[in-house]
Amino acid sequence: MADTLRPATAPYSEPLLPQLDVRNPYYTDLHHNLRATVREYVDTYISPYAAEWEEAGRVPEAVRRRHCKLGYSIVHPLTSEEDSAGLSLPGNVPREKWDTWCSLIVSDELTRVGYVGVIWGLGGGNGIGCPPVARFGNAEQRKRWLPGVARGDIRFCLGITEPDAGSDVANIQSTAQRDGNHYIVNGSKKWITNGIWADYCTAAVRTGGPGRSGISLLVIPLATAGVTRRRMHNSGVNASGSTFIEFEDVRVPVENLIGQENKGFPLIMSNFNPERLGLACASLRLARVCAEDAYNYALKRKTFGSALIEKQAIQSKIFKFGLMIEPAYAFMEQLVNILELTKDRPSDDVNIGGMTALLKVMSTRALEKSVREAQQIMGGAGYNKAGKGARIEQISRDARVHVVGGGSEEIMAGLALREETKAIRTRRKALEKRQSKV
Ligand SMILES: Cc1cc2nc3c(=O)[nH]c(=O)nc-3n(C[C@H](O)[C@H](O)[C@H](O)COP(=O)(O)OP(=O)(O)OC[C@H]3O[C@@H](n4cnc5c(N)ncnc54)[C@H](O)[C@@H]3O)c2cc1C
Repeated sequence: MADTLRPATAPYSEPLLPQLDVRNPYYTDLHHNLRATVREYVDTYISPYAAEWEEAGRVPEAVRRRHCKLGYSIVHPLTSEEDSAGLSLPGNVPREKWDTWCSLIVSDELTRVGYVGVIWGLGGGNGIGCPPVARFGNAEQRKRWLPGVARGDIRFCLGITEPDAGSDVANIQSTAQRDGNHYIVNGSKKWITNGIWADYCTAAVRTGGPGRSGISLLVIPLATAGVTRRRMHNSGVNASGSTFIEFEDVRVPVENLIGQENKGFPLIMSNFNPERLGLACASLRLARVCAEDAYNYALKRKTFGSALIEKQAIQSKIFKFGLMIEPAYAFMEQLVNILELTKDRPSDDVNIGGMTALLKVMSTRALEKSVREAQQIMGGAGYNKAGKGARIEQISRDARVHVVGGGSEEIMAGLALREETKAIRTRRKALEKRQSKV
């Protein structure tokens, strides 16, 4: 445990391993120090103002700029020094030492704020819109966009969802027709996080026939003639800038195509696994926030002559936080460990896409049940936008987007089963091959 971290104040409010002074397979001192750095930053510069920014519907520009200056806007996976515009990574972690654990810790610690709209307002669009550029963009494209994103000079969003195509990504209708050195884009995108402020949208567009084989990934500049945007108002995540974007004969240079024409679908799919891991991590941290605030409330609130925490029915709810959060968190750590162990392997023979989908469902269910129980423990206070229950009230409105966004629950359940069925066949074949060599 990093000596600078304060001990947990409530059961299940912190992940277990980082609290223990033991050698463990996952976290090193570098990780502990990074956690302490992010925590201090969040406690000092974000948490005290988060409710105000969520209410206002945006994070102040100076705050976002500071966030970028501290390295939180550097796009991952980081392929070259140049991509980070000379900025240091958060906590001054050396570039070659940044791993999936570091990304997990940053996501976990930022989410402690409890106001997801604020976290997404700081860089949610870049977080999902830029990785396709970093992974599949050519050297010129990376140079053109990634340093500017790292510095905070430009912002991205990801445009997949449309009014008539959400889960069914292969059915998107927005078109991009080639006209000399340009594509002419027509169509619309819905619920686009940060879309209202973004300079570019990494968009799924139809360049070919129907289905997945006719889809390309195109970076559309949003300050272009023919683009209109209007803000959408959802139950929660108010500071995330959810946007409806329309494209009418928008001219986009062909140099903005990511990868090859009509080969965009697998690129879009590859973006989903890290996004789902991030959503699972955030869901579990939000569930921990519920555990923390509800427990601390139950310690102080007295009914019928004694503190709530002394009532068995309330203790049972607190215990349930652990029952739901801890197994999912341990499963998440196991998957991150597999990602780290296999990241240098040339072929994707250890497929954990199905397990990541399973994790997302486990984590979001843990969140939905936790926020319900936390609100119940807090009674009326859990329904109030101010005071001790404010974070919980906010989480009760932000929880749903974790269940639906980045692959909705029913879709995740089907995918989890399909992928795991495929994976056991692959594993069986690999085992037979190894045995035949013996
Ligand atoms: C706040 C917010 C932010 C978002 N940010 C972005 C963003 O930045 N970029 C972006 O591209 N998108 C974004 N989205 C969109 C999000 O990814 C979609 O809402 C999600 O993919 C589901 O699509 P849909 O809402 O159209 O639901 P639909 O696809 O219409 O599905 C409706 C319901 O039916 C279920 N369902 C669908 N098909 C089946 C089936 N075959 N069997 C059983 N059940 C099924 C689904 O699970 C879902 O619960 C955001 C959404 C929200 C609410």
